[in-house]
Amino acid sequence: MQKNNNSKLIIDPYVQTLGYSAFTAKETYKKLPYVISKLRKETPRDFILASDIAERAKGVINFQLSYDSDILLSPVHLYNSVNDPWIKTDYNQFKASKSYLELLNNRKPLYYGIYLNIEKFEDTNEIDQLINYISAAQPDGYYLQIAGDFSTLNSNHYYAYAYLVKILSHSKKEIIVSRINDFSLGLLAIGANTIAISLGQGDSFKEEFLNKQEGGGTKRRYYIPELLGLYNENILEDILSTNQGKKFVCNCLYCEGSLEKDRLSNFHNTIRHHYTVKKQQIDEYSILSNEERLRKFSTSTDLAQQYIREILKEKKIKNLSYKHFGIWKEVILEVSKMDLPQPSSI
Ligand SMILES: [Zn+2]
Repeated sequence: MQKNNNSKLIIDPYVQTLGYSAFTAKETYKKLPYVISKLRKETPRDFILASDIAERAKGVINFQLSYDSDILLSPVHLYNSVNDPWIKTDYNQFKASKSYLELLNNRKPLYYGIYLNIEKFEDTNEIDQLINYISAAQPDGYYLQIAGDFSTLNSNHYYAYAYLVKILSHSKKEIIVSRINDFSLGLLAIGANTIAISLGQGDSFKEEFLNKQEGGGTKRRYYIPELLGLYNENILEDILSTNQGKKFVCNCLYCEGSLEKDRLSNFHNTIRHHYTVKKQQIDEYSILSNEERLRKFSTSTDLAQQYIREILKEKKIKNLSYKHFGIWKEVILEVSKMDLPQPSSI
């Protein structure tokens, strides 16, 4: 369940998990009403007949309507290349979902979900190809869940993601990004409209999450907006033990200025605090122009680096890094300058 900045409800139908055999070991997914078989993963060959395509589209749309979602997603899978056979299947699914909504005379917006492994799309020509294909379906908006590593120094992942958002922004349709860390604030400066705030998921997405038979189980981390990220309780404790870190005390309704890491990193507190702080942050971004967003993001990344350097001067903290913020900034600034060649007016 996810809400965006205007608190619109989006329910991810989790169709992407059904393409991985690990789902057969998970009760929640086996119970989804549109599962073809509880015993095996689905493949594109299961959706060749128009009747099978229509059946799946109907099931997935009905599922979301039963929660009264404000925005509907058509069924999609994770793409591992521009030649992934799921791409065509999902395109057909989108068309079928649209037809079904017309039949119901339902006017809720239908968004195209884009779930892809960014490592496999490092060549931007392939991103162009994919978007050309998908955008022909004329969705009301896009919902992105991109698998990749967005806290390393490898700029190519960031570049490909930012490029994807920039290309999509030319459609003038709403772009929602989900399961991504604060690199997303930079994406807001180049065309993304909102960040899905999810109550049940983390700030990253990887193909191995779909492949894993065991469900999550990782402990919740605490969000520090000034340091642009979620921090586990050990790092949080270390940060709060420094003078610089004490300045990041949070006065939200839940943290109430506390510096106790047990209270802050308590399961319910991390969620409520994250939701509150994030919502406020997205609201602040939403009223800014792209240029102002760019400046704000740029300043935030500079400050985060400076703060962490100060903290590390006071105390050595394992796994507390800041160099990737410089790469975030560099990539976003670079992509923001990029403009598609316009057709000649002569
Ligand atoms: Zn708080």
